[in-house]
Amino acid sequence: MKSLESERARFRADLIDAGLLVPMGVDGLYGFGEQFERIIEGIDTAIRRKAVEFHGARARVLRFPPIYARQHFELTDYITSFPNLTGAVSSFAGDDHQHQALIADVQARLPWDGHLSPAGTMLVSAACHPSYSTLPKVLPENGQLTDVYGFCYRHEPSIDPARMQAFRMHEYVLVGTPQQAISHRDAWVTKGMDILESLGLTATPVAANDPFFGRPGRLLGASQRDQGLKTELVVRLYGDLDEGTAVVSANCHHEHFGATFGVTTPDGEVAHSACVGFGMERIALALLRSNGFDVAEWPSSTRRALGW
Ligand code: ZN
Repeated sequence: MKSLESERARFRADLIDAGLLVPMGVDGLYGFGEQFERIIEGIDTAIRRKAVEFHGARARVLRFPPIYARQHFELTDYITSFPNLTGAVSSFAGDDHQHQALIADVQARLPWDGHLSPAGTMLVSAACHPSYSTLPKVLPENGQLTDVYGFCYRHEPSIDPARMQAFRMHEYVLVGTPQQAISHRDAWVTKGMDILESLGLTATPVAANDPFFGRPGRLLGASQRDQGLKTELVVRLYGDLDEGTAVVSANCHHEHFGATFGVTTPDGEVAHSACVGFGMERIALALLRSNGFDVAEWPSSTRRALGW
């Protein structure tokens, strides 16, 4: 009998055998083989094509490193809601004497992390997070549309290949009036469905909530769901064995980021924001799962959508 765990484990083993994913010694952390990267690039071609069709050349394109300033991380409030997923950067800032103590612990195979201190930077948890501090304090009339693409870190080791600790998200972020933010989110639910359909994937839009931590988190999650702030486009990677895997997420943040980052509309109102994020590895896995590993045999319509 097929179980979800065994299906995930087998899928992961097959991906590794085929050289698509390269294990890195920790669950959920992979290098990416050449063929896998070609698929990722193809998916990005399909996304960018749709974005240009929809937005023209209006988006400001920004790329960030996988770390950003701790003071900006604090403005996202991520540590309150997702302490368990957070990643902080530490380094050594001691003197010669403390260096000797560090070396002694390393050589004795004792825990040595206590010798490190915060480096003032955090790992990026969502691709859009580093973009908010770059916004003008007063937005232009049409709001600010930003195209961001980068690696995200979430500390959730898993054997499910679709739940990686480090993965890429391509996002389109709109900061503006409440109506501009909602329109952006709603439009991108449709555009996202169009992109997945062009790739030959069957997706369903589902009202969702973030996995906020702890007891207060359950209330936050329920409220987020009730207010319809988060829509995920879900693809079934494992048939009926689970609820499916979210490959695209479209979110309204209300004035959350506008308030903490001090951004207003031209009228002086606190700005609202919304973003759509494409989970690049998850879409690649969905394509591999539904079409097999031999990309030459993939449907011509899928190959065309990938720009091949
Ligand atoms: Zn985002």
